[in-house]
Amino acid sequence: MSEINSLIKGYHAYHTVDYRRDEALLRSLAEKGQSPKAMVISCCDSRVEPSAVLGSIPGDLFMVRNVANLVPPFVADSKHHGTSAALEYAITQLEIPNIIILGHAMCGGIKALIDGSVDTEDNSTFISNWMSIAKEAKNNTDCCDHDKEKFQRDVEQSSILNSLKNLMTFPFIKERVEDGRLELNGWYFDFSTGELFGYDEEQDAFINL
Ligand SMILES: [Zn+2]
Repeated sequence: MSEINSLIKGYHAYHTVDYRRDEALLRSLAEKGQSPKAMVISCCDSRVEPSAVLGSIPGDLFMVRNVANLVPPFVADSKHHGTSAALEYAITQLEIPNIIILGHAMCGGIKALIDGSVDTEDNSTFISNWMSIAKEAKNNTDCCDHDKEKFQRDVEQSSILNSLKNLMTFPFIKERVEDGRLELNGWYFDFSTGELFGYDEEQDAFINL
């Protein structure tokens, strides 16, 4: 229980210090609603804290966290699509002007895809079925047996580009990107060095931001 107790202690510290500091902002957000600067699609990984990395305050970021920060392609069926529902709300209702796919180094989901511990042909588990979204990113990345770390990094970054491509299969996103109302960004965070990289289309590379 010590883990839970430390979190409850954290809450008390939040309520007496941080909440008091942000009280006027939070009351204003409650009254006027939210108007986030960006939607961030990040991994569930506990080592990646988008709010801390981006220095954001409440109301800034509309966040989705899923395994390996993936965006599935647009599919209109009766199944449950959590990430797609969040995209639909963020873009058609809140009209958020930016989407950031925030990938990261040492991603467990991508590692499982690479080492074969997740079989993307087997749709009997939630993870294997979900990770099949990134199958193309893995297949399109040149394998380098002598440098497994580089290969993982390349697949992690290729998967971000794959998710950017999938975003454009959503009609309400494509329409807004084309008329300039929406910007798509592919970012990559290395939590071990604290560095953040952004995909540069002209250079076709991830550049330190
Ligand atoms: Zn991850």
